[in-house]
Amino acid sequence: MFLEKNKHQQDHFQEIFDPILDSSEVKVWVKRDDLVSGAEDLAFCGNKWWKLKYNLLHAKAEGHSSLLTFGGAYSNHIAAVASAGKQYNFKTIGLIRGQKVLPLNPTLQFALEKGMKLHFLSRTEYRQKNEKHFLKDLKEQYGSFYLIPEGGTNQLALKGTKELGCEILSFFDQNGPEYITVCCGTGGTVAGIISATNESNKVLGFSVLKGDFLTEEVSHLMKEYHSTLPKNWSIQNDYHFGGYAKFNSNLIDFINWFAEDKKIQLDPIYTGKMMYGLWDLIKKGFFPKNSRIVAIHSGGLQGIAGFNQRFDNLIKTK
Ligand SMILES: *Cc1c(COP(=O)(O)O)cnc(C)c1O
Repeated sequence: MFLEKNKHQQDHFQEIFDPILDSSEVKVWVKRDDLVSGAEDLAFCGNKWWKLKYNLLHAKAEGHSSLLTFGGAYSNHIAAVASAGKQYNFKTIGLIRGQKVLPLNPTLQFALEKGMKLHFLSRTEYRQKNEKHFLKDLKEQYGSFYLIPEGGTNQLALKGTKELGCEILSFFDQNGPEYITVCCGTGGTVAGIISATNESNKVLGFSVLKGDFLTEEVSHLMKEYHSTLPKNWSIQNDYHFGGYAKFNSNLIDFINWFAEDKKIQLDPIYTGKMMYGLWDLIKKGFFPKNSRIVAIHSGGLQGIAGFNQRFDNLIKTK
């Protein structure tokens, strides 16, 4: 098995131009990992591509033919696993939080079309998903499988996202960009990226979830990599807009403006919030002059259809 990025999009760094960047004297590049698998696959791309890469290789090496994972009904991770399974010949089983609602939303419909077996769990059942007896029952029901945790964060995922960090550093001369920004859910992506950087690069993780748990979680994830924790990073907790899938009209207007003006589509759950936060920090003079900033486009565009269906087509798409 061979996992290769779409050749044309490899190392695609797109510089952004804007009067605000000129007056602040900073430069911004968007690392277009939304295009990692080519524009036709909106699911197995972005940070999910990097997080799954070594998990898929490991599952194949161990002789597994099925992948089992968990997620919410609009989960980018569920869509990514379904698509990766189809592409690399794994059966996939998705355990979905909450009741089955028909017709299936666009994310679950996509997963189904990629061959994923969907299994709906009540919220109480879902909470037991990491308990031994629960996993044993699943093995009886589905046979053996390779388990990928909810959100896909494990040490093999960090190995992949560390590679993403290395790719960013090597695009720049000497020490790499002064800043790297990325959005965070479980923190697996930002943890891997931090592991690739050094004191001359600062990593800013933008949390899309409410609550201040990510600093601790990311530190915890990095323990296996570092005997002393690096200090060149921080989590921004001011741009979650009320929490997962919450938004306001400023966010929507920003995403629609960015798509129109910069020709880059962002999603309302993750990348839109990160870019909004980055723009806000630039306007507030957060970044020293001559800073070079790389904003990672971690994908997530598959979620727009489901978001638009729920929220009256707020996100304009071509
Ligand atoms: C899943 C996802 C994230 C969150 O990644 P974590 O590793 O869980 O922090 C960020 N951006 C997008 C687009 C995602 O789909």
